[in-house]
Amino acid sequence: MKRILIVEDEPTIAIGLQDDLELEGFHAEVVSDGTTAVARALEGGYDLILLDVMLPGKDGFTVCREIQRAGLRTPIIMLTARGQEADKVTGLGLGADDYVTKPFSPRELVARIQAVLRRASEAAPAKVFEFGEVEIDFTRLEASRKGERVDLTATEFKLLRAFVEHRGRVLSIPQLLDLVWGKEMFLTDRVVYTHVNNLRGKIEEDPSRPRFIVSVRGAGYRFDG
Ligand code: CA
Repeated sequence: MKRILIVEDEPTIAIGLQDDLELEGFHAEVVSDGTTAVARALEGGYDLILLDVMLPGKDGFTVCREIQRAGLRTPIIMLTARGQEADKVTGLGLGADDYVTKPFSPRELVARIQAVLRRASEAAPAKVFEFGEVEIDFTRLEASRKGERVDLTATEFKLLRAFVEHRGRVLSIPQLLDLVWGKEMFLTDRVVYTHVNNLRGKIEEDPSRPRFIVSVRGAGYRFDG
């Protein structure tokens, strides 16, 4: 499911947008100010950001600039008022992928989102996935954290891919055994614990208090990237 971050300070608009997008099968989250928007965007895991221009504190232009300066390549659609703001988006060379002028219809917005997502996936043939300060290229099997290369084993890549492909959902130990080790026999649950711990040691800031690969008591693990 594609994840969209909505940055909008007017609650009625924000909730309306969230409803519209979830009806279209997106997972949508709302933040209402620029500082939180930058922080959340940099945590990664979003496929697209809908960014209002007029926000308390940091405005949408600043948010857009800061996100891009940090090297995040998540597509951005700016929500602008009629007139000047739209001119500014195109004129400033901000690098927003598109802009939609208020008021807009849900149908129009969804069409624009789908077009931007399509372009983004065509433009990025390498399947690079980012969360926090970790970047994983599942095509080249390369990983880095804070810009430094991290050596993952082939099994760790498979495990991480299983998590990424099921992010936000709990995976049980038997499911993980099936997804990562397939039909190999005579494996115990221990093999999962060991690999999860090794992986945490490589990608988590504090492996003893994991933020991405979270234990769900009695159920398994959930990836929150
Ligand atoms: Ca606003």
